[in-house]
Parts: sequence; C-alpha cells; structure tokens
Amino acid sequence: MAEETILESTERTSGREALRKNVQAAIALSGAVRSTLGPKGLDKLLVDDEGRTLVTNDGVTVLETAKVEHPVAKMIISASSTQDKVARDGTTSTVVICAEMLRNAWQLVGQGVHPATISRGYAQAEQNALTYLEELSIKATRDQILSAVETSLSGKLDKKMEKHLSSLSLEAAEIIFSDGRADATSVKIIKQTGGKMSDSRIIKGLAIAKTRIHPEMKERGGPGKILLLDGGLEKKQPKLDAKFNITSVGMVDAFRKAESKELIQQVDNIVSIGCDLLVCKEGVDDEARQMLANKGILTYRRVEKKDLDLLAKSCNANLVIDAKRATENDLGGFESTREELSGGVNHWILNAEVGGATLIAKGSTNDIVNELERCFDDGLGVACQLLENPILLPGAGATQTAIARRLRRHAEAVPGREQLAIDAWADAIESIPRFLASNSGFDGIDSILKLTSAQNQEGDSYGLNLSSGEAECSIKRGVLEPMAITKQSISGATEAAISVLRIDDILWAQMEAQIPEEVEQRLQGFGAE
Ligand code: ADP
Ligand code: MG
Repeated sequence: MAEETILESTERTSGREALRKNVQAAIALSGAVRSTLGPKGLDKLLVDDEGRTLVTNDGVTVLETAKVEHPVAKMIISASSTQDKVARDGTTSTVVICAEMLRNAWQLVGQGVHPATISRGYAQAEQNALTYLEELSIKATRDQILSAVETSLSGKLDKKMEKHLSSLSLEAAEIIFSDGRADATSVKIIKQTGGKMSDSRIIKGLAIAKTRIHPEMKERGGPGKILLLDGGLEKKQPKLDAKFNITSVGMVDAFRKAESKELIQQVDNIVSIGCDLLVCKEGVDDEARQMLANKGILTYRRVEKKDLDLLAKSCNANLVIDAKRATENDLGGFESTREELSGGVNHWILNAEVGGATLIAKGSTNDIVNELERCFDDGLGVACQLLENPILLPGAGATQTAIARRLRRHAEAVPGREQLAIDAWADAIESIPRFLASNSGFDGIDSILKLTSAQNQEGDSYGLNLSSGEAECSIKRGVLEPMAITKQSISGATEAAISVLRIDDILWAQMEAQIPEEVEQRLQGFGAE
C-alpha cells in the first residue's frame, strides 16, 4: 500500500521543517512567561472562559491556564509542571532554559550539525553541570534557609509581607519536622477574611473552628488518648420510607429503650478502651452528650472528613466506623488540647503526638487570602524541602554563570562537534542572568560581562543586584536557592530539549469538524417536523 493511502487524513511535517516548527513553539512559550522571571518580573492577568480573573507571577500557572494545542509546547509545559511538583519552584526558569537550548540547537543545525550530535553534547553538558552544582553548593544555616524561602517568594507579594510569610512558612515547617521528614500536608490553613494580612500567624497544633459539645466537659490540658469516629453517636433514623404499625403502648417505649441501650453500649466501650477525647464526623445525641460529659470525655462533633484525616495522621489514630467495635489499638495520642478565640470564632486546638500546625491566613478580601494561601503553600514546600536537605546555591544568576564558565573551559578539551553543543548549552543556561537583568531594566549582555569578570576576580558566588545592576556576592546578600530546585530545572529543561531534538516527524491527524451527537439529533428532529 502506498504511504499516501496509509497516512490519509494526516498532515505530515518531517525533518528540518518539523524541528523548526517545534523550536518556534518552544520559543513562543518561553516568550509568554519570560517577563515574569525574577523579583522584578511583571505579573500576568489571566482571564478564563467564564471571565474569572487571576493575577499571577507564576510561570507554571500561566502555562497551565493557557489553552495550548501544540504537542511540543505541551511537552514543555509538562516539564514545568513536574518542576512544580518535585521542587515547588523554578518553573519559569525551566521553560526559559529549555527554549534557549532549542533556539541554540536550531542555529547549530543551520550550520550543519546533526540533532543527534547536539543531543549527545547536551547530555554531556548536563552531567558536568550537575557535578559543578555540588562544588558550588553550601550547607545552610537557619538564617540562610529563611533567606532561601524569601528568595523563592520574591516578587510575589510586597517586600514586608514576603518576609513575614517566609518566617511563617519556616515556623510551620519546623513544627512538623520530625525524624528527618517534613510533610507539608500536615499543615492546615484556616482562611479568615477581614483583618490585615500581617496579622496572619501560625498556631502550633491543628486548629479547627469548633467548640466542645457540652459546657460541663473540661478543657483538659495534658496528654491523653484520642478516638476518631467516622460517624456519630446518634439514634438511628430509619433510612427507608418505612411505616410502623403500632399495636400497643409498650412498643414505642421498647423501641426507644433498645436505641438507648445501643448508645449506652457505644459510650461504655469508648470509656472502657481508655479514650479521653472523642472526635466525631457526624452528630452526637443529647443523651449520649450527657453520658460522655458524666464520664469526663471531651467531645467534638461534625468535624469535616479532611480534618479527621489530618487528625488521624498526626495522632497516629485509626478512623473507626462503629464506636462499639473500637479497640485500644485504634486510639491515637495527643499532647494537649485547648480552646482559643481567634477572629471572633472559637477554635479547638490540638497538639498531636507527631505534630501539626495551622496557618491562620488573614486578609481584607477573599482574593487576597487566596493569594496568601498560594504563596504560603509555595513557601512551605520550599521550607520543608530545605529542612530535609539543607543545601543551597547562590542565586541571582550566580550559579548559572559559574556553570557556564566552567563548561566553556571544559568544552575546549572536547574533540568533535559536541564541543559546539556544549557551548550552546552554556549559552542557554546563561539566559537566566540575562533575563533577570533585562526584566529589571538592565542590559542583558553587559550584565553577563560584569558577572563573568566579577566571578573571575572575586569568586563563583557573585550574582546580580537587580536594584543597582552591579555584581555582588549572592551568599552575603542572602539571595539563595535550594539545590533541589536548580538541579531539577537543569535536568528537566535538558531532558525536554533532547526529546524535542529527537523528533523528526510530526504526524497530525486532520480531524474533520464534527457535530456533537446531541446537536445532530436535534437537527434531525427539526428536519422531520
Ligand atoms: P521561577 O519560576 O523560575 O522560580 P522566579 O520568577 O521565581 O522564577 O525567579 C527566580 C529567579 O529570580 C532565580 O534565578 C532567583 O535567583 C532570582 N531572584 C530571586 N530573588 C532575587 C533577588 N532578590 N535578587 C536577584 N535575583 C533574585
Ligand atoms: Mg520562583
């Protein structure tokens, strides 16, 4: 069968033309987010189909919201999303570096270098860069960790708020850090509109907007055992639409007694296994409420499932469906429990065995509080990562410039055309300081020259001061980046670029315009009338 028949209804672009189109797509993508890079980067206003708006400075948010059709552009967006998942930051850098790698590769192809050679050179450059990163890295102190969190939030809020939010992020991360692990999901966020952003604070423990169900229950401080009920202590309501034929007066009474007996058995079991604190997802009947108060069991009801899950995790407790079947092994541990008024709402605060922290996020409008939540989430992710692995690199373009300089020296000794590819990779990575400078109103090329000469004389930690445009020591200025972020952005960008270089054929299925079934049926109906 001839090729044409097999590939009917398919648009085909191959060879150089395919690469050209793919490189164009990557450059267009990078063009969309480049201007947000760095602390002086500008914001983008995103408007969705329904007219909702979002102002953001975050590259990956811009790309994920945009309706991108091009398959290569989608590949690069997915590299950026991976960066967001793995490292929580560095998404714009990944896209920008990848696009520059492809732009430079295209120029080499024009000079007659084969894409496979370029891929090999790029892979080699990446390997070398990763070793250079180790040499450039420093072990962070607490102050430096705080600076790195601040760097990752820079440009997202106003300076004072960035500082405040960074210290809240680190405070929360430190509370939940145990056994070398900090799991950001054990931090809860309570949003309160009204009040100033700067009044946002961290509470040690999990705070839930609830009050104990009986005033006679004591606000017991000290440590104890907690039982989590994925249900309630209520008399059963018949689920079906059932009718009772009551034939004697005693029947109703007997029915009620049986139900009360069931409740008593449930409460008795809760008491016997040694529970001090009971938390239910559903309601607690008045009868059970009094019994629990008499037995001195502090109780909270109608607690949301997601809070229950969080409690289970931080107290090491099991969720139990039937109170009668709960055993000692289902109990979890807590250190203390108390209630506190915050923003006019009573909050129950539990300090669990494993930890848990809560951010009370305040702001004058919903939008501000939501933005605060997003930024806190990013800051917390970076803080957790840094407590687990406190290794940093100098920011403000210092690391990328240092890598590029070392690579060029290394490339001199590489025989063959791979040498050209390694140089092209070095130029691409240097686009970070270049765009940081141009986004701040300085000349990109002049800034790189300044940086190179400063690093040559003073050392590898010299980056750009984006207010003065001069080269300064990024470690001294506290512009620091987690190793994990820079490493992931280098690898992610290189891998995405190499996979694009491997493509030499694009086959687009040409889809015919299709009428949705529903509409077609209606049209047919219309004709028949
Ligand atoms: P990304 O999505 O890649 O994280 P950002 O817009 O957050 O993009 O910009 C990150 C870059 O900005 C990093 O290279 C970082 O070193 C640099 N940067 C952050 N704060 C400063 C600062 N105060 N001075 C100079 N550079 C900074
Ligand atoms: Mg960032």
